[in-house]
Amino acid sequence: MDFSLTEKQKMIRRVTREFAEKHIAPIAEESDQQSRLDPQVMEEMKKMGYFGTCIPKEYGGAGLHEDTISFCIITEEIGRIDASWSITTGVHASVCAYPIYKFGTEEQKQKFLIPLAKGEKLGVFALTEANAGSDAGGVETNAYLDGDEWVLNGSKIFATNGGIAETLLVVTKTGQKGKRKELTVFIVDTNTPGYSVGVREDKLGVRASNTSELVFQDVRIPKENVLGSVGSGFRIGLQILDYGRILMAAQCVGLGQAALEASIKYANERVQFGRPIGSFQGVQWKIADMGVAVECARLLTYQAAWMCDNGLEYGTMGSMAKLKASEAAMQATHDAVQIHGGYGLMKAYAVERYFRDAKMAEIYEGTSEIQRMVIAQKLLRRGY
Ligand SMILES: Cc1cc2nc3c(=O)[nH]c(=O)nc-3n(C[C@H](O)[C@H](O)[C@H](O)COP(=O)(O)OP(=O)(O)OC[C@H]3O[C@@H](n4cnc5c(N)ncnc54)[C@H](O)[C@@H]3O)c2cc1C
Repeated sequence: MDFSLTEKQKMIRRVTREFAEKHIAPIAEESDQQSRLDPQVMEEMKKMGYFGTCIPKEYGGAGLHEDTISFCIITEEIGRIDASWSITTGVHASVCAYPIYKFGTEEQKQKFLIPLAKGEKLGVFALTEANAGSDAGGVETNAYLDGDEWVLNGSKIFATNGGIAETLLVVTKTGQKGKRKELTVFIVDTNTPGYSVGVREDKLGVRASNTSELVFQDVRIPKENVLGSVGSGFRIGLQILDYGRILMAAQCVGLGQAALEASIKYANERVQFGRPIGSFQGVQWKIADMGVAVECARLLTYQAAWMCDNGLEYGTMGSMAKLKASEAAMQATHDAVQIHGGYGLMKAYAVERYFRDAKMAEIYEGTSEIQRMVIAQKLLRRGY
């Protein structure tokens, strides 16, 4: 078993780290306080190909579609500096662009995927509704066929990139088979009449990332905009989430890593009782536990990515990675604030932001409870 990264993967880590430290780090606190993604950083990120990481070059992407570990490394390194950016690019690429690459027709790829992969347009995956959160089967946004067009009505909430996106994947009810709803995923261009953006959420963490409500009132969608086939929305939706979870896990590895590095630096610098606080066993044990948690999370995340790249069933491993990594980030950022004492609660120290950002990750892309449910169901059914 070989745990080493390839030379290319090491290079990707080095380049992304340098990029994130140079372009994102100097304005990360300001972006958080202003709840705003800097347009200049957006342009720089497009040039780096971060919006099309997992898309083949022929469709305008960076060509890492068979190297999910590299996609994880990029997401991790951006998340290490600012989770608002890693959720923006991660969600855009993993749960909007990638599904169009995976399930879309050639025509859909030409029309929608290329601008997404180049970062010319921003993407959304819209599943959650007021009455459909963990229970995706509760979707009430619906569509009926009228001639050659589907007519969409309803609303989605908590959509990452919602207020700034131009291409949406919308999970919609298109029928009922017995007790089960028939769901279909539509590709929606936000310029379509009847579409509007509702409330933009004011959040605890990842504050710079845009989280918005999407409203559909008699939005007419051409038949060609069905992703996959009519009625395949539940299956496709689950596959989209399986893939997205690996990237959200990677983001959490980055957050945990940031908390660990900040804590090591502070523990070596801060002097109390005449010596650095890192010399006290109570602080040392926290640092050790953070290191173990982050490393476990990284291993699970890379393993899920490796399974994905090697054509293995990776859904359970992705859930394990997302669960472990989000809880590791929460633990590490919690301990980082504790190690920083009163300063850890102040805006002047980044650990305050890391702590708020980490809490978000235990909720989005499936809460920790839902990850445990998914993992337990698989284990009880199939064993280990
Ligand atoms: C910042 C942010 C970004 C997001 N981005 C997107 C996005 O881009 N697209 C999108 O579609 N959605 C997005 N979401 C929505 C997110 O995926 C949901 O918030 C999440 O799935 C939980 O749904 P809910 O908020 O309705 O909570 P609920 O489902 O109402 O859950 C409430 C509580 O009950 C628990 N619970 C529910 N069911 C069970 C069960 N069976 N067993 C045990 N416990 C259970 C949950 O774990 C949770 O603790 C985002 C959310 C946030 C906060």
